[in-house]
Amino acid sequence: MSNTDFALAIEDLTVSFDGFKAIDTLTLYIDKNELRVIIGPNGAGKTTLLDLICGKTAASAGSIKFKNTELTRMAEHQRVRLGIGRKFQTPSIYENLSVFQNLEVSYPAGRSVFGALGFKCTDEVKARVQVVAEDVGLAEKLDTEAGLLSHGQKQWLEIGMLLMQDPELLMLDEPIAGMSARERDLTAELLQRICKNRAVIVIEHDMEFVKKIAHKVTVMHQGKILAEGPMEQVQADPKVIDVYLGH
Ligand code: ADP
Ligand code: MG
Repeated sequence: MSNTDFALAIEDLTVSFDGFKAIDTLTLYIDKNELRVIIGPNGAGKTTLLDLICGKTAASAGSIKFKNTELTRMAEHQRVRLGIGRKFQTPSIYENLSVFQNLEVSYPAGRSVFGALGFKCTDEVKARVQVVAEDVGLAEKLDTEAGLLSHGQKQWLEIGMLLMQDPELLMLDEPIAGMSARERDLTAELLQRICKNRAVIVIEHDMEFVKKIAHKVTVMHQGKILAEGPMEQVQADPKVIDVYLGH
């Protein structure tokens, strides 16, 4: 398979912090339209891996190719423009704006045919807001002030804000932390909807949730990949039980 067949091709990726390799010669391929879950003990390097992909942290060595374009020397905003969206653990929504306005301001300037003239085509933006609001289950909440949403709804809004850019790769770091059981179920459905036309990487600890959403699971440990495959295979792997699932 050539690298163009993958949404993301990471090869021999390494990052050192004062000699400590948080990511150590890691190789990982994500298919187009795949929903990959990354699990592993605290400190395994999961968040650092997302930092390297989105450009928050610079790689020390190795390659990250997205749509066959090398990312490692590219600035963070250029990676966003190429189609990479990243959700951090703490939500960053505008609490005083409505759900509609939060989504509207996230529509990428310059994407619209009128973008170059400095204003947005209202109908185009409105249509996109509607589609995204339905995808994230907030279509009934468009006029609600974001600050009044539940914790789970705020998380969905932030996912919606990323979807406004129609990213081809979406990365979510522990998206269900602090959610109720009902919100977790709805998030699983949401992720299944939005991975239809993009690759999604999710870091998560909740094994019931992982089982529901993962196409494939990658287990990280000490900056390396310990195991990778379908959930049942990974769960039955003695190495994985030893360093992670057994605790
Ligand atoms: P995980 O998300 O799997 O819990 P992290 O990626 O947050 O793990 O961290 C992996 C390791 O890298 C940890 O030992 C952490 O302390 C270290 N680390 C992460 N970022 C930095 C940084 N900017 N400087 C120094 N050490 C870091
Ligand atoms: Mg982390």
